[in-house]
Amino acid sequence: MSIVRDIASVAKGMSITFKEMFEPTQVENYPDGPGPMHGAQFEERFRGQHVLQRDENGLEKCVACFLCAAACPANCIYIEAAENTAEQRISSAERYAKVYNIDYNRCIFCGYCVEACPTDAITHGHGFELASLNATSLVMRKEQLLTAMPAQPTTPTLPK
Ligand code: SF4
Ligand code: SF4
Repeated sequence: MSIVRDIASVAKGMSITFKEMFEPTQVENYPDGPGPMHGAQFEERFRGQHVLQRDENGLEKCVACFLCAAACPANCIYIEAAENTAEQRISSAERYAKVYNIDYNRCIFCGYCVEACPTDAITHGHGFELASLNATSLVMRKEQLLTAMPAQPTTPTLPK
């Protein structure tokens, strides 16, 4: 009887195997997939490489208040503040971050910096390819974290 039971178990297992062979593939084709993510897919809440945001006028949202650095348990945010001037306005407040570095050798992606930020200047993006044999390259500078300038509205052309 035990042989019959074993054969039945194998047959049941193989039936599931054959059924799955004709189902759509569920695995991600990373890194050979299409698009900028090379086939990787994420939930919206995935915490990847940070993004420093701009406001609707293209000014940097970061006002160099240091709250994110103070909240960071891994001590991996380094900021140098500078004053905005009439000739050179970088953020809408008094100060801006002249230097803003995040050391991804230390970051644990806890999100505390994002929660601490009063201006929503720092958010988590979906960038995840953060492995390197060169530890220095994992210290990301502001220029690497800053989002692109918003597209300028096109001037409507008047009908002739
Ligand atoms: S996610 Fe956490 S560890 Fe990483 S920079 Fe922000 S506060 Fe620091
Ligand atoms: S990212 Fe936010 S919390 Fe950090 S210094 Fe800039 S404004 Fe302050």
